[in-house]
Amino acid sequence: MLERTRVAIVGAGPAGLLLSHLLDKVGIDSIVIDSRTREQVETTIRAGILEQGTVEVLSETGASDRVLTAGHKHEGIELRFGGVGHRIDFTDTVGRAVWLYPQHEVLKDLIASRVAAGQDLRFGWTAQRVEEAGSDRPRVLASDAEGNQVEIAADVVVGADGSRSVVREAVTGTFGGYFTEYPFAWFGILCEAPPSAEELIYSNSPHGFALISQRSPGVQRMYFQCDPDADVEAYSEAQLWEILQSRVPGTTLNEGRIFQRDVLRFRSFVAHEMRRNRVVLVGDAAHTVPPTGAKGMNLAVADVVLLTEALRALLLDNDETPLDAFPEAAAKRIWKAQHFSWWMTSMLHLQPAASDFERRRQIGELRSVVESRAGRTFLAEAYTGWPLETGVK
Ligand SMILES: Cc1cc2nc3c(=O)[nH]c(=O)nc-3n(C[C@H](O)[C@H](O)[C@H](O)COP(=O)(O)OP(=O)(O)OC[C@H]3O[C@@H](n4cnc5c(N)ncnc54)[C@H](O)[C@@H]3O)c2cc1C
Repeated sequence: MLERTRVAIVGAGPAGLLLSHLLDKVGIDSIVIDSRTREQVETTIRAGILEQGTVEVLSETGASDRVLTAGHKHEGIELRFGGVGHRIDFTDTVGRAVWLYPQHEVLKDLIASRVAAGQDLRFGWTAQRVEEAGSDRPRVLASDAEGNQVEIAADVVVGADGSRSVVREAVTGTFGGYFTEYPFAWFGILCEAPPSAEELIYSNSPHGFALISQRSPGVQRMYFQCDPDADVEAYSEAQLWEILQSRVPGTTLNEGRIFQRDVLRFRSFVAHEMRRNRVVLVGDAAHTVPPTGAKGMNLAVADVVLLTEALRALLLDNDETPLDAFPEAAAKRIWKAQHFSWWMTSMLHLQPAASDFERRRQIGELRSVVESRAGRTFLAEAYTGWPLETGVK
């Protein structure tokens, strides 16, 4: 079976769904496919912090009404070290904020708005590869929900298919990227308990890093630094609470039943290329960051905002210039976010073989951030998100 559309989007994550929403608003048709079921997409727990620009895009374009009502505005975070908390006040330093609103809620809103608009969303469809990537009529080869072979021919194919992207191969070759890995990971838990703090606590302790974060009045998300090969089942609940408590001295955590645990490995990756003729990569397919700076989903949104304008110019005005400029324009923000995510990670985590010198230097680094208005402002500006570029320059 051969289908045709203007933009074939592989992946119904934040990048793919938002792109189809924004394209629809400028009158461009698309088909979105995803190998998972709608229920799986809507229930997978991932990111939770939305930059101010992300919230504005979601609310102002009608992608999500709930982000402003069900999301929680956070006007600061706490950096804790030496057992003492230091608040970074976003309002005071940059006049901006972030919102705590889980990624799967964003996806529920996007899917609901796409379905209401009569959008072509195909769950259970798995892309195998892209053919004729060098031509002006690339095709996605896929299997549908019943396992039948299908092809989607499009003016443009967008790989929004996450860190294990199959579309990436058509753009860069099998791997093709700048890459670094870290000697630690995050052990994440979800528990049934009231919040232990009003804002997120990023804690650098002699035992390693911990992040105390919130989800809802009755469910909390917390992480602690662990070995990348840690076995999630190797710890009892009591051990997990002991580890977490020891890493946030000065705060008594509200404990509750732990109902989900996972290990999140840390990688930084940027694809060498984001575009080959009419095949383009966005979001995690093009880059991944360690989660410390909360940049992953926000960066996907920034790519999509930029790409929408490039595709509008190409498909409605027959002007390819903005698409030519897209990879370089997107890379500016991507590398700033890579630096911020790496910096927060290296400043807050304990290197497994850290010397006494390194430990003391790290505390000196944290002090120079929290005790200086310029330092606090630098962190707040990056955390709340640099202004979104809407036109490709
Ligand atoms: C466990 C976990 C926790 C995270 N926590 C944070 C966090 O706290 N803060 C943060 O900023 N970021 C976090 N991230 C990263 C953030 O979730 C991602 O950056 C974000 O989801 C990127 O969106 P995306 O749309 O580019 O890709 P994804 O959300 O990965 O979506 C890709 C979609 O493509 C589909 N797909 C993949 N291959 C195919 C195929 N061959 N055919 C069809 N469909 C396909 C997948 O099913 C998926 O739905 C986390 C990621 C993980 C895995």
